[in-house]
Parts: sequence; C-alpha cells; structure tokens
Amino acid sequence: MKLLATGKVRELYQVDDERLLMVASDRISAYDVVLPTPIPDKGAVLTALSVWWFERLLAARPHHLISAAAGVPAEARGRGLLVWRLSMLPVECVARGYLAGSAVADYTETGAVCGVRLPAGLREGDRLPQPIFTPATKAAVGAHDENVSFEAVVAAVGGSLAEQIRDRTLAIYAEAATLAEGRGILLADTKLEFGTDATGRLVLGDEMLTPDSSRFWPAEEWRPGGAQPSYDKQFVRDWLIHESGWNRVAPGPDLPGDVVTATRARYVQAYEQLTGLSFTDWPVAAR
Ligand code: ATP
Ligand code: MG
Repeated sequence: MKLLATGKVRELYQVDDERLLMVASDRISAYDVVLPTPIPDKGAVLTALSVWWFERLLAARPHHLISAAAGVPAEARGRGLLVWRLSMLPVECVARGYLAGSAVADYTETGAVCGVRLPAGLREGDRLPQPIFTPATKAAVGAHDENVSFEAVVAAVGGSLAEQIRDRTLAIYAEAATLAEGRGILLADTKLEFGTDATGRLVLGDEMLTPDSSRFWPAEEWRPGGAQPSYDKQFVRDWLIHESGWNRVAPGPDLPGDVVTATRARYVQAYEQLTGLSFTDWPVAAR
C-alpha cells in the first residue's frame, strides 16, 4: 500500500480512492515533539479505545471507521483501522468541561478561553459552569497548536461547518463525559478532528477519546486548585519537566524504563476502566 502521510503517532496508507488504512504506532509525543522511546502496546490501546467509542456514541455518527478487522493486514492487526478517506478540516475541535492545560493560562491572562468568557475566581481543575468549545488551529510539524476564537473557525471553514463542528464536538463531549463519569473517570477535555466526504457531508475522523487526545482524571482523586493526577501523558510530562532537564526543543530525551512501564500501565488502565474489557482480549474481540 502507498504511504500517504506520517503523523506524530500514525501512518496513513492509501487502500483505494475512497479508503485509507490508519495505523497507530507506539510513538509518544510531548510538547509536539516525538520522543525517541516507544511505549509498548500504546498504538493498540489507542486503536482499541477509539473503536469502542466510535461504536458506542450516538453523537459520533457519522464517523470514518469501516473496520478494525476485515481489510486490515496481519502486520497492522490491532493497530490498524480501515477508514473512509476524508478531506480534513484544519481545526482541532476541543471541548472542555474543566479548566486545565492551555486554558488555564488563557483564562488567567484574559478571563476567557478562545473568546468564551468564564466566571471570575475559577481555579485550575475546576468544573466549568457548562462545557465549552475551544478550537485550535492545526499547526505545521514542530509548531504548537494555537487556540483561536469561534470567529476564526468561521473564517477558516465557513459558518455552516463551523456551527456543525462546534455542536457535534459538544454533543460528543457530553455523551462521553456522562459515560466516563459512571466509570469513575472525569473527562476534563478532549480533541476531535472532522472532515468532509466526497458528498460534502461532515464526518468524524482521526482517533476518538483516547489518553492522547483527552484528559482523563480519576474522579476519586479530583481536587480542584492545581494540576490533577491523570491518565494522560502527564506522567511523562512530569518526568520531562522535573527530572530530565530537557528544554522542549527536539530531539527529546530517552525515557527511563520505569517511566515507560508506568505509562504503558496507565494507557492500559484507561482502556480497561472505561470499557470494562480486558486489554489482553484485544484484538481477538475485534469484529
Ligand atoms: P499531524 O497531522 O500534524 O501530523 P498528528 O501528529 O496528530 O497530526 P497523527 O495522529 O499521527 O497526526 O496522524 C493522523 C493523521 O491522519 C492526522 O493528520 C489526521 O488529520 C489524519 N486523518 C485522520 N483521519 C483521517 C481520514 N479519515 N482521512 C484523511 N486523513 C485523516
Ligand atoms: Mg493525531
């Protein structure tokens, strides 16, 4: 198959004019830099979890997933998805239900995030009065995504698509956050990507509600007023910030074995706690 693109985590192959094979690797990135050390099974966990959400959430439809089994070559089994090829919109569609990450700095400076005004006095980790849509522009390789206003999204993709991606992002967030909360996990925020198909229809693409694209917080340990313990890459980030001495410019440092082991365990735990399934059953369970 022809290799179309290599992202930070995934390879995209052309199957035919309409379909792609999207293969998730074990690569991990932090601060938009791919680190030299892979996390074993990470690609399979991201794929398994995405499939689980695609199949479960009503608000995820229509989406690009065709199959995780039929049409996926043996070498990519468990990490590969057969998907409809989309023309991707140049917008990272972020929904936030809690104040975290880049939103903290924006809020502290301006009282707003992506032009959405928030009440005064919120602390890092606080639940927002209601979930908000905080889009970002997709940055070129090596650059950081930039938070933008809804008006900037309208300028980029037009008013109709802008409203559709905002409404679908918030609908997916709401459905997923309710489901996750029932399993002891707070969905602090998540990033989705949409595209249009040959008929111009808006379709959900990429990965969905994984630890790479979302902040998952153990509900029991939620203590607003600072950074939260998390299932996402925070563990790697903590090591990078406090122990590695890295200046956030590529190349990144090799990760120590205990950071790799703990990070792998967190990815698997996120999958198992959300789905109630055992990761060792994947991809046998894949249809
Ligand atoms: P970048 O595109 O900046 O490299 P990334 O590092 O997050 O982003 P990956 O997640 O590694 O990229 O690779 C996935 C790529 O595939 C993304 O560019 C995404 O927009 C694209 N993509 C996802 N689903 C589809 C689809 N159905 N059709 C076409 N492209 C898709
Ligand atoms: Mg990606």
